[in-house]
Amino acid sequence: MTVAGMEKLEWLSRFVDQTPGDREVGGKPRQVPGVCWSKVSPTAPPNPKLILWSNEMADKLNLARGNDSVLGGGSVVDGMQPYAQRYGGHQFGNWAHQLGDGRAITLGEVKLPNEVLELQLKGAGTTPYSRFADGKAVLRSSIREFLCSEAMFHLNVPTTRALSLVTTGEMVVRDVMYDGNPAPEIGAVVCRVAPSFIRFGSFQIHTADGNYDTLKQLLEHTVKNHFPQHSVADDNGRINWLTQVAQQTAIMISHWMRVGFVHGVMNTDNMSIHGLTIDYGPYGWLEDYDTNWTPNTTDASRGRYRYGQQPQIGAWNIARLAESIAPLMDDVELLYKVLENYDAKYVESQNLMWSNKLGIEDFSENDESLIVELNEILQEVETDMTIFFRLLSSIASPEITHLSDAFYNPENIPHEKWNIWLNKWWDRVEGEPNRDKMNNANPKYVLRNWMAQLAIDGANQGDYSICEELYELLKNPYSEQPEFEEKWFKKRPEWARHRVGCSMLSCSS
Ligand code: AMP
Ligand code: MG
Repeated sequence: MTVAGMEKLEWLSRFVDQTPGDREVGGKPRQVPGVCWSKVSPTAPPNPKLILWSNEMADKLNLARGNDSVLGGGSVVDGMQPYAQRYGGHQFGNWAHQLGDGRAITLGEVKLPNEVLELQLKGAGTTPYSRFADGKAVLRSSIREFLCSEAMFHLNVPTTRALSLVTTGEMVVRDVMYDGNPAPEIGAVVCRVAPSFIRFGSFQIHTADGNYDTLKQLLEHTVKNHFPQHSVADDNGRINWLTQVAQQTAIMISHWMRVGFVHGVMNTDNMSIHGLTIDYGPYGWLEDYDTNWTPNTTDASRGRYRYGQQPQIGAWNIARLAESIAPLMDDVELLYKVLENYDAKYVESQNLMWSNKLGIEDFSENDESLIVELNEILQEVETDMTIFFRLLSSIASPEITHLSDAFYNPENIPHEKWNIWLNKWWDRVEGEPNRDKMNNANPKYVLRNWMAQLAIDGANQGDYSICEELYELLKNPYSEQPEFEEKWFKKRPEWARHRVGCSMLSCSS
């Protein structure tokens, strides 16, 4: 296999060729009705430096390490037709109308032997969709996106991926907690990769505009290129396609629940049409198992996007997507089927998830009480989700003392309740839980909030060794990796309990 530079890749521009676009190139932030994209040029950074590199993603693209200039937004190669996508979205339940790629610029699509992948820069300058902001991104949020998207991939959670992180050589001012304390941060650009970055909001905007011709063209483009097994020529085909999107979304969210991931901003503009985790912002990982937790301070009082509500929000978002297709339907009543299919797929995925997490064969409705009770006890005192489930697969007898490392305060463990539950589970699995199944469903290592923060603290001082270490560690989240156990298989340290970036995150990126 030859390894090549960007200019040697086979570039396609299906999205700009097949959907209507803006006549103006670049230009000031503005409303751009009726279109799916605006062509733009990335803004060249003063001093692009490649910092993080996904060798796996690069291998897949057959790309040589380097290309700092292109990956930082400093140049384009022949075949690329950079554009910003136009989309809308419901933000925290309210329709926001036009949003679009305000700090993301697609370079183009790369044709590979078995797939086509879109490469997109995040943080490479303003576009017509930048509204009031600068189109840039800081090192902190770029590290969070790079490390988390790659970690999610290795956790077997559907996700967009990252190829590179380039620092720009420029400082960017951000008011992290929106409290009147702006400070300069190191600027960076991540190159992320996915089959496409089409979102639920990509469809919604045209329906909101009443522009059904564009809606139809976008739908046809999406299905032809990304769901070729479907035809959307009639109601039946449209429902089948929507059902697939709904099912993939349900599967993705059930994986989030499995690993303890909280997206933080499940607005419809942040929902990928492919059922991929997209737009890593103020996400977080459950450390103690609190189903009401959300990392996003903007949402702290309402908790719309809290861990335990993600499946319901998925349904709400699917309803908004289905609604946006309504103008193309002969019989809109059929759209209810899509929601039913979402619910059914979610239940099926959850059952599979619990069967795997608990090593139970032939999981059935009769096992529901076991799950309900487990969820209750897990929340009675502060209990680390990752450590609890990982250790559960290794215990030799149904006694909670084997699991005491999962508790933040060993003095208040509800021993009796736990032993009752453990015995019930032990009987159910006849003393032989399927430990392999459990170890493939319960990761040993996830990107805990404080781990990402340590990587960021190091990077801000010019030391990327923790970033590199975590990137390597999280390539094998289900392996024991005993050399890393003491350092990273660990409950949240006290310093991280109330620290910004660990327990509190904002959309500021
Ligand atoms: P998010 O919910 O973080 O994915 O972003 C919501 C919208 O705000 C999207 O349309 C983004 O493109 C836009 N946005 C966020 N940050 C910036 C920024 N620094 N510059 C321009 N647009 C931004
Ligand atoms: Mg977004």
